[in-house]
Amino acid sequence: MNAVGVDVGGTKIAAGLVSPEGEVLAEARYPTPHSPGRLVETIVRVVQEVSDGHEVGGVCLAVPGLILAQENKVVFSPNLRAVEGIPLKDRIEPEIGVPLVIENDANAAAWGEFRFGSGSEVDHLVFLTVGTGVGGGVISHGVLLRGAQGSGGELGHVTVQATGPRCTCGNHGCLEALASGTAIGRRARETAVENPGSALGRIASRRKVLGEDVTELARKGDEVAISVLEETGTWLGVGLAGFVNIFNPEVVAVGGGVMEAGDLILASARRELRLRARPPSRDLVEVQVATLGPESGVLGAAALARNTDGAYVLGD
Ligand SMILES: [Zn+2]
Repeated sequence: MNAVGVDVGGTKIAAGLVSPEGEVLAEARYPTPHSPGRLVETIVRVVQEVSDGHEVGGVCLAVPGLILAQENKVVFSPNLRAVEGIPLKDRIEPEIGVPLVIENDANAAAWGEFRFGSGSEVDHLVFLTVGTGVGGGVISHGVLLRGAQGSGGELGHVTVQATGPRCTCGNHGCLEALASGTAIGRRARETAVENPGSALGRIASRRKVLGEDVTELARKGDEVAISVLEETGTWLGVGLAGFVNIFNPEVVAVGGGVMEAGDLILASARRELRLRARPPSRDLVEVQVATLGPESGVLGAAALARNTDGAYVLGD
């Protein structure tokens, strides 16, 4: 039986009808409305649109922020305030007529990589998505780690530097505050001030320096830009070393927009990981770029949809 995955993002809502083999059979997307009523309507509409003419066993919404999965509730979603506190399951399920569950978007993407991507050959996977923020998910013994309330696996908000920069969550020195696209932008602007004659310094004299500028310059061999990405990779490696010690994964898959920079970040992350993590875990693990790309949200959500018996519609 097919399942529907809905990736509810801050700017767009994407839905896909997905087969048990991980094939996307139908797709739809709409801009994300920012009133609760229209948000619910739009989710119902995308689900109905992709389901049209097909049998569907279940639907899963992947939502950014802090989710209480067992209660199907979104508690805190700084980029999507309209979704907070809505009884999504009670409002949407009667309209679509199939079981609905809600999961954290990074957990869903992790499960997508595990079922259909870079983790499909292993039982132990740590997944990180590095974009504006840092999200994460852990699969251990083939099971998605959720914790007591379904809000576990928040790898981006592990503290890696006690006195570090303030994070969007309010804490200081989270991995997200040191190794996200936002952190690259901040580091690049600081570096531009320190090196006004550098290419970054010249951009800064005209406009705000962005994370994308750093990747573009680093690709062309600009040493200052390369050093910004290496420092970011080093912090990423500090975080990864902790995860490797705790979870002993076979694969660490890193996805998200920042991975456009690929090895410009991952090489220093791997180096730091080797310095800090303990054998034998550090010798087993392979750090890779995630393979599913932007579709991981929809695929992962679909793979987490459950049928009326509570089993995954697409199997596990
Ligand atoms: Zn944080």
